[in-house]
Amino acid sequence: MIANKEARNGEEKMSRVTVPAADAMIGVLMPVLDHGFIGLVDYMGSDESIVQAARVSYGRGTRRVSDDRGLIRYLMRHEHTTPFEMVELKFIAKMPITVARQWVRHRTASINEYSGRYSIMSDDDYLPPLEMILPQSTSNRQGRDPSGLDLEKSKTAQEIFKGNSEATHDNYKKLLDLGIARETSRGVLPVHNYTEWYWKANLHNIFHFLSLRLDEHAQWETREYAKEMALIVKTVTPIAYEAFEDFELSGLRLSRQDQRALAVLLRGSGVAVEEACKTAGLDLTKSDGTQIKMGEGPEFLQKLRSIQNRLN
Ligand SMILES: Cc1cc2nc3c(=O)[nH]c(=O)nc-3n(C[C@H](O)[C@H](O)[C@H](O)COP(=O)(O)OP(=O)(O)OC[C@H]3O[C@@H](n4cnc5c(N)ncnc54)[C@H](O)[C@@H]3O)c2cc1C
Repeated sequence: MIANKEARNGEEKMSRVTVPAADAMIGVLMPVLDHGFIGLVDYMGSDESIVQAARVSYGRGTRRVSDDRGLIRYLMRHEHTTPFEMVELKFIAKMPITVARQWVRHRTASINEYSGRYSIMSDDDYLPPLEMILPQSTSNRQGRDPSGLDLEKSKTAQEIFKGNSEATHDNYKKLLDLGIARETSRGVLPVHNYTEWYWKANLHNIFHFLSLRLDEHAQWETREYAKEMALIVKTVTPIAYEAFEDFELSGLRLSRQDQRALAVLLRGSGVAVEEACKTAGLDLTKSDGTQIKMGEGPEFLQKLRSIQNRLN
């Protein structure tokens, strides 16, 4: 047994790792959207646990804190992921069912959800704020278009949401009053109705969740939860979170074609970006000359812009 002091040949006694700032967060429910929240219920491990696990593979080596940071950054860079699995976090969260539907797709977590079969569903429905009731995006088929805000239309839409909520909750109550089973009656409720769950995962999978759900392509409402979760994770494992931010969240994946286009640009012979893309086989225009909005070419331009923005 690793934890046995004698068997470890006189090395220091192991004790439970705690993070005072994380302890102070336990039970604090951070508000999200109009009726939701997320809070830390418990955690196991810290940056120290990641280092401890890695040293089982790499040998003890030096033990200075600066080395710990270096080791964690090395593990993150080289996708040596199992030491990150030594840390676990358990959250409680209340979210609209639409958000839960996306969240639950992350299969590597353990979940216990409020049961609408046993209990009466919450009276709370999510009412999107006016500024987030937007037209369908034309560039992203899954998203909305922030430049198209029309407050009058948003107000009308918000009234429709309110009316729908009231009517469906009235119907839910009528069905329950008729004695219809809760598991059947809940069928009339809107998917903006709030549900609640415990969600537990290890740090490796939480980072995967955050990389997908903090991304601007994720639905805004789900992103709001991911942002608060990120603050909690950052408190429990600040060094690992910093490495995650540097290498995963802010890192860029460059395909062979992207690298080719960059190589052409780096030759420094004043080649236009369009020309570099063409040489690398990254299409920016269709055969009729019109601009391509989505795909590898436009995504390469986005990567270039995000590199240029580092100067700001
Ligand atoms: C912006 C966005 C849009 C999306 N749109 C849609 C959509 O339109 N329709 C839709 O259905 N889903 C959609 N999804 C959900 C998406 O396809 C994933 O199901 C979800 O993000 C969970 O990711 P995951 O499978 O990597 O995570 P997890 O389920 O947590 O799995 C983590 C990793 O474990 C491995 N893994 C887990 N289970 C398996 C398995 N059975 N087989 C092989 N490997 C496995 C994979 O490597 C996986 O990346 C969308 C997600 C995002 C972020």
